[in-house]
Amino acid sequence: MRIARYEHDGRVRYGLVDPEGGIVREIAGDPFERVEATGVARRLEEVRLLAPVAPGKIVAVGLNYKDHAREMGKKIPEEPLLFLKAASALNDPGGEIVYTSQSQRLDYEAELAVVIGRKAKNVKEKDAAAHILGYTCINDVTARDLQVKDVQYTRAKGFDTFCPLGVATAVGPDFDLAALEIVGRVNGAVRQHGRASDMIFPIPHLLAYISAIMTLEPGDVVATGTPEGVGPLLAGDVVEVEIPGVATMRNPVAAERTA
Ligand code: MG
Repeated sequence: MRIARYEHDGRVRYGLVDPEGGIVREIAGDPFERVEATGVARRLEEVRLLAPVAPGKIVAVGLNYKDHAREMGKKIPEEPLLFLKAASALNDPGGEIVYTSQSQRLDYEAELAVVIGRKAKNVKEKDAAAHILGYTCINDVTARDLQVKDVQYTRAKGFDTFCPLGVATAVGPDFDLAALEIVGRVNGAVRQHGRASDMIFPIPHLLAYISAIMTLEPGDVVATGTPEGVGPLLAGDVVEVEIPGVATMRNPVAAERTA
């Protein structure tokens, strides 16, 4: 099951997508309590796909793959390294990532995103799965030069458009989380190819760790870290994040808007 969020006739709704059929089936309300189709179906060309949830917060994990920590010249963290991405940085699948003149170096970071389905506070690792709605793609776009300069990440990771999410949330038992792969491409060329099973801190550990600090609410998103192979984007590039079996998200990079 794939749950998308979309705009049609000026209204935002959730729906079940069937990409092969090119159809989205509207559901009643939001998908966090129950998923109930209303019977209304629309062709995908009729709607504008949005990020599949509108998170109150985006909790991101830095250096969660050994090879990536190595390429950044950093030590392997002993506990998860957390930071927040601004909710206002959220971008839609297909939305433009907009360059900023404050940075000379924007990097892509292809990541697996966990979408929270049920409020989580002090959850145990063994109970974490019950709080997950599903999984999708996220691009943790980073102004690398500003990240180095600022030490902490608020500015570097917080510009508007720096958090593409989507296309849909993959829900249900029809895929094996440990087998998921994360692929990053720029202009069609593969730059990153990692496996969820290589995370230093696996998802149940992350949810236990994070929810011991802050309550995770339905619709919140956890970005689980990027595998090795990060690199720069230029205006005119098209960057893709693919989680095979889950989603493929494609975003063009635009020059800064000076108007
Ligand atoms: Mg990241």
